[in-house]
Amino acid sequence: MDQFYLDNVALYESLVERAQPAPLARRAGRAADLAEANMIVAARIRPQLDEDLASGFPCAVYPRSDEEDSGVVDIHDLYNHPRGKPVLKSAKYEVDRLFGPETTTEEIFDVHVKHLVPFAWNGGIGTLFAYGQTGSGKTFTVSRLEELVVDALVDLDPDSEKQVSITIIELAGNAAFDLLNKRQPVSIMEDARGVTQLMGANECTVEEHADVQDLIERATAFRRTAPTLKNDDSSRSHSICRIRIKHGKVDGFLYLVDLAGSEGARDVAVHGADRMRETREINISLSVLKDCIRGRAQADAIAVKASKQQATQTAPVKKKQAPHIPFRQSALTKVLKHVFDPAGGRACKTAVIACVNPSLADVGPSKNTLRYAEILRVTPPSSTAAPAATTAPASTAAAAPSTPSTKAAPKKPAPQSTAKPNSRDPDPDAASVPFRHRLRPGMVIRLKPSSPVGGSSTSTPQLAVLLCPEMTSDVDSPEKARKHRTMQYVCASLAPVPGKACYEMNLWEQFVVDSSAMDREVILEYSPETRYYYVYHIV
Ligand code: ADP
Repeated sequence: MDQFYLDNVALYESLVERAQPAPLARRAGRAADLAEANMIVAARIRPQLDEDLASGFPCAVYPRSDEEDSGVVDIHDLYNHPRGKPVLKSAKYEVDRLFGPETTTEEIFDVHVKHLVPFAWNGGIGTLFAYGQTGSGKTFTVSRLEELVVDALVDLDPDSEKQVSITIIELAGNAAFDLLNKRQPVSIMEDARGVTQLMGANECTVEEHADVQDLIERATAFRRTAPTLKNDDSSRSHSICRIRIKHGKVDGFLYLVDLAGSEGARDVAVHGADRMRETREINISLSVLKDCIRGRAQADAIAVKASKQQATQTAPVKKKQAPHIPFRQSALTKVLKHVFDPAGGRACKTAVIACVNPSLADVGPSKNTLRYAEILRVTPPSSTAAPAATTAPASTAAAAPSTPSTKAAPKKPAPQSTAKPNSRDPDPDAASVPFRHRLRPGMVIRLKPSSPVGGSSTSTPQLAVLLCPEMTSDVDSPEKARKHRTMQYVCASLAPVPGKACYEMNLWEQFVVDSSAMDREVILEYSPETRYYYVYHIV
């Protein structure tokens, strides 16, 4: 794919120049939302480095500069069309704040992170997550922010009795290591009161700026790294810097989390089973993190709504059940338990920075990063409208298609091929053959609106993934069926995720579809981070 991009740089640049930005449906009152929000998602597009320019890949990520569109970024990809010229595939993503290549980390601190400092000083929990593919600038951003945060804390009230201390740990899979003490192992335990303790981790007291710099340098030297194809210094582990502000009974906390880069299959293809397992663990922990962040936001929204209703009604209000927040499912979210657990009753504010490498070579991971950022944007708790559908965690968010299948299919185990990151046919020449003549497990199809299972009452066309051929007594093999020019497949439904331009696979929702009811082949991209499918191309 890289060679295809390099061969078509001139065409790509001319197509980008002519591209019209997709219009936006703006949300009213966005600025007011941000001022009150407990969770703000930003993206930082790093500058193109000398090595990026030398490699010959053009820029693929374009922030919109218009004041109205601030927060919107266009990504242009080049699609290698099998039956014609390459075509430009453009997508837009929206975050709460967008920092372009010229923005300094100091400016990002002022706008996006600084408010967490007095919040934690007064007993709250402020958390910053930096997320993105390897080489996108996460460590560059977080290490400077760590210094700026501690500087701001020390400056806040130099005569205060409050004590500031730092712990920096690394999470590799489910194992934790102390980066301030020669990578000694740390145990993550929950005490009798349900508070997570980092057993064996050093907690260093900070008096002045020089102390912090020294600690951060020490931690960086011990951070475990392993080479990937992308970046020889890439971090394959999460690093968590915990700053505790001790005062009285309740301590304030600031967490600065530099998340591991999530490399796709392309990058791990030449690595062994260990690296594949490591990548899978990283992707699972990022996915659990997403469920926890969205679950906490939904729990906050429910609590705010209930207290508003209580204030206007005399009779007790029936409380909606809080969502399950799966913080015990990964070491990362276990460490951050009191950020996510509403039962702890702690006030929390969270800032996310999605870091993006603007090069066309990284266009796929950049799209995944911004999709993840969009998924994290949930209705702020202050909003009166908190529809469960838009804030529900991923596991419960997707509604099943409203039209039942005409013929219930026996439940069959899904073949492995359905979990492919991309539903494109592995055979590059296949696209010249009409899709009905090359049906295969893992292919995604759009159903005709007139078909019994495709006639959904919603305006969204129904998509389905083919699982395996359906054998009938009269036509008992795919070969015979092809001769009869008809073919039936057991399919699983792909349900649209409410409020998001993506789909979720419902393996339990199976039905049998005749090839005559299939309208088009649809190429979907799977995002391992969000665990949703996105439409890439309709053939
Ligand atoms: P990651 O932690 O995401 O793997 P790094 O923080 O190591 O990425 O950044 C990769 C490279 O890009 C480093 O050489 C870093 O100095 C450089 N870099 C990242 N962000 C910026 C920026 N905003 N300005 C200049 N250089 C940057």
